[in-house]
Amino acid sequence: MSKTLIVQKYGGTSVGTLERIECVADRIVKLRKTGIDIVIVVSAMAGETDKLLKMARSLSKNPARREIDMLLSSGERISSALLALALQSRGVPALSMTGRQVGLQTDSTHTRARIMSIDAQRARKMLNENYVIVVAGFQGVNAEGDVTTLGRGGSDTSAVALAVALGARQCEIYTDVDGVYTADPRLVPQARRLDVVSYDEMLEMASLGAKVLQIRCVEFAHKYQMPLLVKSSFKEGDEGTLICEEDPKMEQPVVSGIMCDKNQAKITLKEVPDQPGIAANIFEPLAAASISVDMIIQNISEQGHTDLSFTLAREDLDEAMVITKKVAKKIHATKVSADAKIAKLSIVGAGMRSHSGVAAQIFKTLSAHNINILMISTSEIKVSCIIEQKNSKLAANALHDAFDMASKPAKKNTKKKTTKKVSTA
Ligand code: ASP
Ligand code: MG
Repeated sequence: MSKTLIVQKYGGTSVGTLERIECVADRIVKLRKTGIDIVIVVSAMAGETDKLLKMARSLSKNPARREIDMLLSSGERISSALLALALQSRGVPALSMTGRQVGLQTDSTHTRARIMSIDAQRARKMLNENYVIVVAGFQGVNAEGDVTTLGRGGSDTSAVALAVALGARQCEIYTDVDGVYTADPRLVPQARRLDVVSYDEMLEMASLGAKVLQIRCVEFAHKYQMPLLVKSSFKEGDEGTLICEEDPKMEQPVVSGIMCDKNQAKITLKEVPDQPGIAANIFEPLAAASISVDMIIQNISEQGHTDLSFTLAREDLDEAMVITKKVAKKIHATKVSADAKIAKLSIVGAGMRSHSGVAAQIFKTLSAHNINILMISTSEIKVSCIIEQKNSKLAANALHDAFDMASKPAKKNTKKKTTKKVSTA
C-alpha cells in the first residue's frame, strides 16, 4: 500500500510575492513532517497572466492562440521554480515540473484546451524518491508537443486532474478566501462559511458566477469523486469548505447558498406574431453571434400576438439589441426594449430535491418586502428570479433570513469519500 498523497493547489495571491512563496514553503515543510506524499500545483504570481496578455495585445491586435499559450504558460513555470527553490533551501527535496514533464496531455484547443490523459510515471517515481513535486498549473501539451493552456483559472483543473491520476486522498485548493459562503459577504453581512457543499450545488454556484473554482475543475472532481477542500492560505488552522458527494443518509439543509448576478440585462419584443418558427427566427441569429441567452419567457398570446422577453449577460446587450431589432422588423414585432437594471437572484440547495415549498417561500418573502419578480426559472436544485437591480441587497438579505442561512444546520455531512484511481480525463 502506498503512502497517503495530498495534492495542494496555491492560487495567484497565495504565491503573489516572494514572502508569500516563503510562507507556502513553510506550510509545506510542516505538512511534510506528517509523513505524507505531497504534490503542489501553483498558479502564476498574482497579476502575471494579465500582464503577459496585455503585452501580447500591445504587439498584436489578434494574437495567435498558440503563441498566447507559450507566453502564458511561463507565468506558472516561474512560480513553480521559485517555490521549488524555497523548499530546497529549507532542506526539502523538491522538483518543479511543467505540464509536459508531468505528462499532462491535452487536445489542441489553444487557450482553453481539455485534458486528455496524464502519464504520471515520472511524478510517481520522484514521489517514491521522497521528492515534493511542484507542478506548473494551467498547462499541458498537445499531440504535436505544443504547449497548451486550460483556460483562465485552469490551475484548479490541473490540480484535480493530477489528484485523480495519482490517486490522492483529496485535493486542497488554497486561495485568498477561506471557503464557500452562503452568500457574498459584501451583499449579505450575515453570510456564513459552509462546511460542506455538494458537487451539484457547487456546479450551480460556479455557473451562477461564484469565482472560487473553475467550473471544469468541479465537473472533473464530480466525475471522479475527488473531494475538494477550499481553504485560505492566509489563515492558519481554519477548516475551509469541503466539496463532495451528497450523503443521502444525512440531513441536508434545504438551501445552501444565495447568488446575486447583477451583470444581467433583459430584452423584450412586443406583439410578436404567434406562429411556428418565430422563436427560431429570434434566437438563431443570437446564437450565430455567440451570444448566450439565459431565461426566456413567452406570454400567452392574445389575438395572435404575444410578448417575448429574454435575459443575457450585460456586456452582450448592445450587440444583441442590434440583432434583435433587425429580427423584429422581419417578423413584424411592434417594439423592442432593453432593461439593463435587473439582477438575477438564485437560491441553490440540494435539499430542494426532497423539500417542497421552497419557491413558494421565496415568493412570499419577496412579496412581503414589496419586491416585484420579473421572471422566474427553476432547476432541480435551484430557483432563480429576475428582480430590479435596486432591490438586490434587500432581497438577498431577506431570503438569507427567511431560510435561516446564518445558523448552521443541526446535522452536517462531513463524511469524506474515498477516491478512485483513474488516469485519464
Ligand atoms: N494563471 C492563470 C489565470 O490567471 C491560471 C490560474 O491561475 O489558474 O487564469
Ligand atoms: Mg483561481
